[in-house]
Order: sequence, then structure tokens, then C-alpha cells
Amino acid sequence: LSTRASNFLSALGLPTTGEISGVYDGEWKGSGEVMLSVCPTTGEELARVKSATPEELHATLEQTRKAYTQFRLVPAPRRGEVIRQIREALAAKREDLGALVSLEMGKIRTEGIGEVQEFVDICDYAVGLSRMMNGRVVASERLGHSILEVPNPLGVVAVLSAFNFPVAVYGWNLSLSLAAGNATIWKPSPTTPLCAIAVTKIVSSVLERNGLPGAVASLVTGGKDAGEAIVESRDVELVSFTGSEHVGRIVGKTVASRFGKVILELGGNNASIVMSDADLSLAVPSVFFGAVGTAGQRCTSTRRLYLHEDIAHDFLERLQKLYKSVIPGDPLVDGTLLGPLHTNAACATYASAVEYLRSSGAEILTGGNKYEHLAPGNFVEPTIAIPKSANTNDYIWKTETFAPILNVALFKELEQAIEWNNNVPQGLSSSLWTRDLRNLGKWIGPSGSDAGIVNVNVGTSGAEIGAAFGGNKSTGWGRESGGDSWKQYVRWSACTINFSDEAPLAQGVNFVA
Ligand code: NAD
Repeated sequence: LSTRASNFLSALGLPTTGEISGVYDGEWKGSGEVMLSVCPTTGEELARVKSATPEELHATLEQTRKAYTQFRLVPAPRRGEVIRQIREALAAKREDLGALVSLEMGKIRTEGIGEVQEFVDICDYAVGLSRMMNGRVVASERLGHSILEVPNPLGVVAVLSAFNFPVAVYGWNLSLSLAAGNATIWKPSPTTPLCAIAVTKIVSSVLERNGLPGAVASLVTGGKDAGEAIVESRDVELVSFTGSEHVGRIVGKTVASRFGKVILELGGNNASIVMSDADLSLAVPSVFFGAVGTAGQRCTSTRRLYLHEDIAHDFLERLQKLYKSVIPGDPLVDGTLLGPLHTNAACATYASAVEYLRSSGAEILTGGNKYEHLAPGNFVEPTIAIPKSANTNDYIWKTETFAPILNVALFKELEQAIEWNNNVPQGLSSSLWTRDLRNLGKWIGPSGSDAGIVNVNVGTSGAEIGAAFGGNKSTGWGRESGGDSWKQYVRWSACTINFSDEAPLAQGVNFVA
């Protein structure tokens, strides 16, 4: 291991030699398949992680359920106090954990730290929630009766997460889930096990210090098989899945077939629309960040750009200038804006999308190649293309390519751009740039954007935790983080209570023998 990687791992209490246990249910274990954590910047092997055998996975599920039966009895504000301590423990490791995200996932350091900050923020939110997860008293039509809508803890929540947010997505789920009184079992991406182990070490130390079972926040590293086993398990009440549409479709069907609950946070194919009255000094850098930030590996990355024909030329000239100024490099070095793609396979996906664009007659304005001199790092040029046709039925417009490729088309009327915005399977994030209130009204109204995130003069990527986050259509309709999302993590009951001396039936029904 390089000295640099050793230092980052040691700072988080992770071993720098030998194999690391990747399973936790109160105790660390793992005697299954060994998974490799590989640095996408250098190709260096960071760690060998021992994943769960099927038996260990089963035992972890059992321990998690047991932990739930204990944790559900802890009063919600006391659960909040535990979340507050987790928040403190995370904040103390913000820089180190952020650096590990950069090392293992490949995003730049400020974004790595930002991801840990999101976890800290959602903990703050959940601490507040722990005193506000209120039910309701409903007026009864019967004399001497009351109806209560009561939220109770739900059970075991499985969090299956993607590689691109190896810390924050778990944070969103864990914090709400703990506030609600559940136990979680986390199956992270097989390519970011170190982030998951480091987070679990921080969380479990707080649980243990509070005399709570560690299995309140269990971890099972593994791949597809582990994911499938968790999704199929009747011991899991809610599966919160973040990942591709392809896997999400399988997960959704499996959970539905056993009548479990599911939250799906799947792929995005997000568009920005720029009107002729937009302030380009704001719009150009925002589109630049949306398309190039995290090397195009955010679910909310800007992949489609619709420009009003009056400003298109000017806009593209300014945007290309920014693209040309990007120097790819080590995401841990200050000033780097473009890190690598996460895997070699992602480079191949990028190359085949560029090849498709070229062969179908698209104009490539900038980019289109790998940065060969940075191999074995997975570096690719951010690309702007004008596909031959703006026809949204074309593969290139309809598909989420998880790489920094921005496809551009020109329009005359906002209605046309909104139609293009909506005419794709996905519905995660969308953004309109305008100074005209009439455009804004159309955009956020009934015939406007059909995405879950509908921004105005704000780019498609970079959400805050306060609002419910998620997308519509093939993005899966899931909502996480803020808003009313917490309501999915509890079991609701309608309780009708009779404190009268009679037992009248509802709707005045008479049923006397
Ligand atoms: P992926 O679908 O390949 O993997 C996601 C998770 O599913 C991993 O933990 C993986 O091991 C597991 N998995 C794989 N096959 C499985 C199966 N048959 N059953 C159960 N689990 C299985 O996704 P990825 O490549 O890691 O992540 C990129 C994708 O995630 C992109 O499409 C991106 O848009 C999406 N994403 C969406 C959001 C959102 O909030 N909407 C956020 C982040 C990422």
C-alpha cells in the first residue's frame, strides 16, 4: 500500500495489511469471498475485504432482527440522542472520511467531504425528527370514540447502495431509520467496501458506548448474491435500494412479490433548459458543474442540455472555454476538478457512447477520448456533443450513460423543450434557466417538468437534505432524506378507541340478533 493510502486508512482505524473483515452484526467477521477495493486514480489495490458467506449473512439478518426488538422500545427522543452522538463522531472524522471517499470512489476531495457533511446534516435533521414523528387524532363519527393514527417502528430496513455516494445515501437511510426505531442492514456497493467499513466502525462505537446492540446498524459486504438474499428475505420489512434501473427493476419485483415495502432511487437522465432571457453568467458555470462534477457520476448529473437558439452559440462558446480549462488529476490534490471514472468498465461504457455518437453523425464539440497518459487511472475527457437528431426516441437521449457526456439540442419554444425534457423513461432532476415568471409558472405547473426535482436557476445536481429527494417514472418514485420521507420508515396503525358505555357500529349500522 502506498504511504498516502496507508495514512488515510490508519486515520480511520482500518488495517493497512492483510484481509479486512467486511461483516458486522455486533462482532466483526467475514469468511466469504474476498473483494478488492481498487483506487480508481492509480489502480492501486487498497484492501482485500472478506465478505459474508450465505450462513454469515443469514446470521446477521437474525442478529439485526433481534436488535430491532430491543431498539424499538427505546423512546424516540433517546434514539435522537444516539443519533446526535453519531453526528458528533462523524463530524470529528469528516476530513479523514471525506478523503477515503475520494481515494476509493474517485470524487474530488471537497465533494468527498461534502458527502460526509450530508450525513452530518441529515443526523441533525433526524435528531429533531425524533421529537416530532407525530401521529394524529382523527374526529370519530361515534360518540365517546377517538381515532388515533399511530406511527410505530417498522422492523428491519435493508439499505442497498450504489458506488457513487458510498457514504451519504446510507446516512439518509440510517438516520431516519434510527429515529423511527428500526434496525438497518447495509449492503454497500462491492467496489466501495472501505467507506462502508469505516462508517460502520464510527456508528457501532457510538451504539456500543450507549449499551445498544451493534446489530442495530449491521453491515454485510458482498455482491449481487448478497443483495439478492437480502431482497428476498421476509425478515426485511423495507428495502431501500439505490442503483441502476436494471437492478432496481429486479429488486422492485422481488420485494413486491413478497408484499414487502420498497424505496427505489434509480437512474437519472437529467436536462437543463436555457431560455433566451437567462443570465448566462449563472447558467454556464452551473451547467458546467452539473455535467462535469463527479466526472458525470451523480444520479443528478446534467446529461441533456436544451438551448434556446438565440443564445446557443454564445452559451456553447463559454461552456467550451470552461471545459478546456479542466485539468484531470488526483482527486485528493487541491484544485483538481476532474477525477477518474470509478471503474475500467465505466470507461468502456463512455467509449461506446462516444462511438455511437460519432457513428450516428453527431458533432463532438469537445472531448471524446480517454486521457491515456493517466492510465491505469480511469480518466476520460468531459464531452459535449450535438447528436444529429433531437429525437428523444433515440438511444443516446433515452439512456443514462454514467460518464461526463453532455448532449445538446436547440429549440425555439419552451413547450418543445419541456416535451423533450419529459419524453425519456427517467424522471429524477431537471432545471430551467429564465428570468421570466411566465416560464417559471409553466415549468413547475401541470404541463411542466415531470421530474421529482424541478429547479429554476439552479442546476440539476447538488440537492440539500431538507426536501424529499427522489425521482419519478423509471427513477422509481422513491423519496428519501427530508420532507415526508420519514413516514415510509414507520408502521402506521389506525386505532379506534371506545371510552363510552356502548358499542355502536360505524355508519349507524344496526346488527342486533
Ligand atoms: P448497481 O445497480 O450496479 O448496484 C447497486 C447495488 O445493487 C449494489 O450494492 C449492488 O451490489 C447491488 N446489486 C446488484 N445486483 C443485485 C441484485 N440482483 N439484487 C440485489 N442487489 C443487487 O448501481 P451502481 O453502478 O453501483 O450505481 C450507479 C447507478 O445508481 C446509476 O444508475 C445512478 O443513477 C444510480 N443512483 C441513483 C441515485 C438516486 O438517488 N436516484 C443515487 C445514486 C446512484
